[in-house]
Amino acid sequence: MTKRIVAFRRLKEAQLDQLRRECHVDYFERLDSADDPDFRQALSQAHGLVGAGLKITPEMLDDAPHLEAIASISVGYDNYPVDELTRRGILLCNTPDVLTETTADTGFLLIMATARRAVELAEFIKQGEWRESIGEAQFGSDIHGKTLGMVGMGRIGAAIARRGALGFGMKVLYSNASPKPALDAELGAEHRDMETLLQESDFVCVTVPLTAETEHLIGEREFALMKSSGIFINIARGKVVDEAALIAALQDSSIHAAGLDVFEQEPLPNDSPLPHMSNVVALPHIGSATHETRTAMAQRAVDNILLALKGERPISLVNEGVWKE
Ligand code: NAP
Repeated sequence: MTKRIVAFRRLKEAQLDQLRRECHVDYFERLDSADDPDFRQALSQAHGLVGAGLKITPEMLDDAPHLEAIASISVGYDNYPVDELTRRGILLCNTPDVLTETTADTGFLLIMATARRAVELAEFIKQGEWRESIGEAQFGSDIHGKTLGMVGMGRIGAAIARRGALGFGMKVLYSNASPKPALDAELGAEHRDMETLLQESDFVCVTVPLTAETEHLIGEREFALMKSSGIFINIARGKVVDEAALIAALQDSSIHAAGLDVFEQEPLPNDSPLPHMSNVVALPHIGSATHETRTAMAQRAVDNILLALKGERPISLVNEGVWKE
């Protein structure tokens, strides 16, 4: 029997061809809503799903009785009910590694842009404000030699820490679910409890996944512990941070600046004050968004789904427990 795949994110023609050589493909290049009737009809017959950016609910799984595997075009899997998928024996695949360095580049971009006020001062020129040599009012803060506090020291956290330690001579602190002795040796990184890390760091950079445990991990208390000169970076997921507390901390200068790639609600609502604050660099969730990396992520997802539907082990599996050799 030909297996059926529903693809709900844009794929390259070559990737679609690869899927079509082995499966029937229902392709939704742009899916605006999970309630789209054509999508729901395709879902009811699907053996595999490939895509990203769509919240998959247990109710949707009830409507997909043939589903065997989902290949997300992302490393984060907070859009999927993992326990429910595992209970139903549905494989969930993601795309680690191929996006690590690109996302770390974006994290470091935010560190540099906030510290040196790059966006604000580029705007200053555009507005015709550069009429004489700049003075203290336009000065930024050094990055080299400062202390970088990583909240989460997994693949992306380590890649950002590597840039800081090896490229900019930064001292690296980290709080993480488990200690990382190899990174301590490689980068001279030092494990700290969260409270100490917040107090000692010049830059606090969040790279933990969004889980029930990490939702609003950073809030009013954590911002109060940061230095008033501290710069806060979030490259993980918006909901790891209590955004109202972040806005308050920026407004009352209990922290100096923030670089944000992710937000509690995306796209960011028009009435959010964040993009209008001069000490905030806000990006529209572009962590992995380069031509090369997005192509590699989609390719990994295509490979994952085809392997899973052939009964072979996918390259990157989230719910290992479902796999039976
Ligand atoms: P990863 O390798 O799994 O790293 C996550 C790290 O967080 C792990 O080291 C883990 O500890 C640690 N951690 C988990 N729960 C924790 C907790 N409660 N307290 C402290 N540490 C905790 O994942 P990754 O590939 O680096 O990706 C991290 C996240 O970045 C993704 O989940 C995704 O949400 C986000 N992301 C965002 C973008 C973007 O476009 N902005 C792009 C890619 C990824 P252990 O090592 O002990 O397990």
